[in-house]
Amino acid sequence: MIVVMQADAAEAQIREVEGALQEWGYEIHPIYGTERTVIAAVGTPTQDEAHVADQVESLPAVERAVLILKPYRFASREYKPEKSVVQVGDVTVGGNGFVMMAGPCTVESEEQLMETARAVKAAGATVLRGGAFKPSTSPYSFQGMGEDGLKLLAQARAETGLPVITEVMHIGNIDLVCKYADILQIGTRNMQNYDLLIEVGKLKKPVMLKRGMSAKIEEWLQAAEYIIKGGNEAVMLCERGVRTFETYTRNTLDLSAVLAVRELSHLPIVVDPSQGTGRSSMVPAMCRAALAVGADGLLVEVHPNPEKALKDGAQSITIPAFQAMMKELAAVGEAVGRKL
Ligand code: PEP
Ligand code: MN
Repeated sequence: MIVVMQADAAEAQIREVEGALQEWGYEIHPIYGTERTVIAAVGTPTQDEAHVADQVESLPAVERAVLILKPYRFASREYKPEKSVVQVGDVTVGGNGFVMMAGPCTVESEEQLMETARAVKAAGATVLRGGAFKPSTSPYSFQGMGEDGLKLLAQARAETGLPVITEVMHIGNIDLVCKYADILQIGTRNMQNYDLLIEVGKLKKPVMLKRGMSAKIEEWLQAAEYIIKGGNEAVMLCERGVRTFETYTRNTLDLSAVLAVRELSHLPIVVDPSQGTGRSSMVPAMCRAALAVGADGLLVEVHPNPEKALKDGAQSITIPAFQAMMKELAAVGEAVGRKL
């Protein structure tokens, strides 16, 4: 931590700060300038460093305390320079390949799910998505089929061989969702549900952590840290768009987050252009862009009949659109040296 003293700090005030830093377990390296004093505090403090920085800033004559180390460790590139790989059955997320996770936003019926699962599998998807417990902004909209939806996902997996990703919304449902899911999805609204993060951190099941709709990348990586710190290293991130002033699109899909995560972390990152744009017309092009920018995979909503969908129809692409998109993605993959 670097502590910058105010220009008019008195000698005694500087001594007080130095003493406090030493009490917190730091070794101090002060620079007594002509304008002001700056103190480099080196070492591991006895308490959480962000908390210590707050405390230091509350001392008299301190202008600011700047943290040098990132507030996450296990999720960082410094801790693990090589990219992580999350294995889901035969599917590798984070390797050289590109993983397509596709299916309906929400499981609505056996026919809807099975038709979609067969079609996306035939077109080249390697993971089936489908919500059974749905976090809904409106309490009046469809909340999902619950365990019946999970059973249908298991049935679709049995027939197609595709592993299944589905959302777990709260700690009371973890056991139930784990019984059926191959990947636990933590939704944007739950990225900061720390109780949930701690509990999934105790599992050995792969987790996809979506970015909170207003979360900074640092906060997102701190959320991932909760899971890894608990012992579950099978974490992948999912950029699904953030809330901005723009309303033409449902969210603003932040593709630069893929690059930021690459620089800061070893965790695989998947992009969800369905929630990211909210518009089916934009999904294929944003999928191509996500592949080109270097994402490890995609999470895409596909529906046999989007206009009849109980949820997220406007952003769900049709089966023919998905088939066409897979062909285009193969061409982009070829151009950028990635295999689908
Ligand atoms: C979804 O994938 O359908 C979903 C609800 O995602 P998010 O949590 O990103 O809104
Ligand atoms: Mn959805």
